[in-house]
Amino acid sequence: MTRKLKNYIGGEWVEASAEAVIPVENPATCEIMADCPDSTADDVNQAVEAAVAGFEEWRRTPVLSRAQYMHHFKNLVEDNFEKISQVMVMESGKTIDEARGEVRRAIESIDYAMSVPVLMRSDGLEDISSGIDETTIRQPAGVFVAITPFNFPFMVPLWFLPTAITCGNTFILKPSPQTPLSTELLFEMLDEIDLPEGVVNLVNGGIASSEALMKHPDVTGVSFVGSSHVAKIIYETCTAQGKRVQAQGGAKNYIAVMPDADMESSVKNILGAAYGCAGQRCLAAAVAVGVGEAYGKLKDELVKQAKTLQVGYGLEETTQMGTVISGAAKERIEKMIQQGVDDGASIVLDGRGKVVDGYENGSFVGPTILADVKTDMVVAREEIFGPVLSLMKADSFEEAVGIINNSHYGNAASIFTSSGKYAREFKYNVNAGNVGVNIGVAAPSASFPFGGQKDSFFGDLHGQGMDSIEFYTERKIVIERWI
Ligand code: NAD
Repeated sequence: MTRKLKNYIGGEWVEASAEAVIPVENPATCEIMADCPDSTADDVNQAVEAAVAGFEEWRRTPVLSRAQYMHHFKNLVEDNFEKISQVMVMESGKTIDEARGEVRRAIESIDYAMSVPVLMRSDGLEDISSGIDETTIRQPAGVFVAITPFNFPFMVPLWFLPTAITCGNTFILKPSPQTPLSTELLFEMLDEIDLPEGVVNLVNGGIASSEALMKHPDVTGVSFVGSSHVAKIIYETCTAQGKRVQAQGGAKNYIAVMPDADMESSVKNILGAAYGCAGQRCLAAAVAVGVGEAYGKLKDELVKQAKTLQVGYGLEETTQMGTVISGAAKERIEKMIQQGVDDGASIVLDGRGKVVDGYENGSFVGPTILADVKTDMVVAREEIFGPVLSLMKADSFEEAVGIINNSHYGNAASIFTSSGKYAREFKYNVNAGNVGVNIGVAAPSASFPFGGQKDSFFGDLHGQGMDSIEFYTERKIVIERWI
C-alpha cells in the first residue's frame, strides 16, 4: 500500500483529516512514491492554532538562542546532504548535480538567518527634542505562511522559514503536492533540533489548504513562490484580508547576445541557463536575442552544443538533463512547441517524443530550439517552463532592449558582451528584477533580495535579503522622556 504523508503540527507528525490524496510520482520511473494528503481547512485550523500557541514563548526566546537553532539545523542538512539530493531527484526529475546545487543554496539561506541578531537591530537618536530620545525596535509579527512550488522543493521553503523563525515568528509551510518528500526530510530535521512546539508546522496539500491559510484571521503574512496566475490570486486574496504578502511569480527571461560577445563561452553559459533543471527554473533562459551578426553564430553554436546534452534519469551521474515534472507537463510543453511551429518559427532542434532506454514512460523532453521567433508568437510571450529556447534576431542593441522590455514578465534578463558601455546601458534600461552581465542565470545570493518586476512579482518587499527582515518584523517607534 502506498504510504500516506503526514502533516507536522505542534511538534508532532499527525494524520491529515483529509481523505483525498494527491499521488507523488517519480517522473522518470513513474513509480508512485507516496500519497500527499489534500489537507482541508480543519487541518489548516489545527496548524494555525499550534502556531499561535507557540508564538508568545518563542518571541520571548532570546534572539541569540533562536539563531543557535539554525547552527544545529545547518549541521543536520550538511549531514543529510546526499540523502536530500537523491530524494529531490526522485520526486522532481532533476539531475543529482542540480539537486546538490540546490541543497548548497538552501544552506546559504540558513547561514543568512544566523545573522538575524545583527540584522534585526534598529536605530535611535538622543535628544530628538530637549531631553527626549527616540528609538526604533523591530518585533516579530506573528504567524507566517509560505506556499511553495515544485521546482526547488528544498531551497524555496528555506528562502523563508529560517529568517522568519529566527526573527521570532512562528511558521507554517504548504509545499507543492508534487514534491512533498524533500520537505518531509526538512521537517524531520527541524523535529530533531527540538524547537518549541508550534514554531514550525507543515500542512501538505493543494489549493484548499492554500486558501484556508490565506483566509485565516490569525495568519499575519504569506510568502508565495509559483506561477504568475496563482501569484496574482494569492496577492489579491491576502491583501483583501489585510495581510502582508510577497508573491513571486513566473517568468519569460530574455538574454541579449551582442556581436562582441565571446560566442563559445556565452553559448556554454546560455545552454546551462536554458536547459538546467530541464528549463524549469524561474530564472531559465527562455529567449535568446542575437544582435546583428551574433544571431547566425549563436544559432549554429547553440544547436551544436545542445545536441550533445545527455538526457536521462537524474540519479545517473552522467545525466546532464533530467525529466520535466510530469506527463501532463510534457504534453503541455510539446503542445507549445507545436504552437511555435504553427505560428511560423523554424524548429532547428526538436526534443519532442524523447525516449530514454530503461525509462520508456518517463516525462522526458529533449533540448529544443525554435529559431526565427517573432515578438507576437506565444512562444516569445508565455512561460513554457520546459527545455525550449526561442531565438530572435534584433538589428541593434536598442531593438533588443525594446523586445525584452515589451514582455509582461520581468523576472530576469542577461546580456553577453565584451563592451562595458552596452553592459551599463543594459543594467540601466532593462525592466527586469534580476540582471545578468555575462551570467546566464542571475540568481541573487541569500543576502540580496530576489528581484522580480511586472507579472513576475506582486507585493512590495521581496523574498530574501534585508527585505525579508522588513517583511518578517513589525517596527515600533519609541519616544521617551525621563527628565
Ligand atoms: P503553481 O503556481 O502551480 O503552484 C505553486 C504553489 O501554489 C503550490 O504550492 C500549489 O499547490 C499552490 N497553488 C496552486 N494553485 C493555487 C491556487 N489556485 N490557489 C492557491 N494556491 C495554489 O507553480 P508550480 O507549477 O508549482 O511552479 C512553477 C512556477 O513557479 C513557474 O511559473 C515558475 O516560474 C515559478 N517560480 C517562480 C520563482 C520566483 O522566484 N519568481 C521561483 C521558482 C518558481
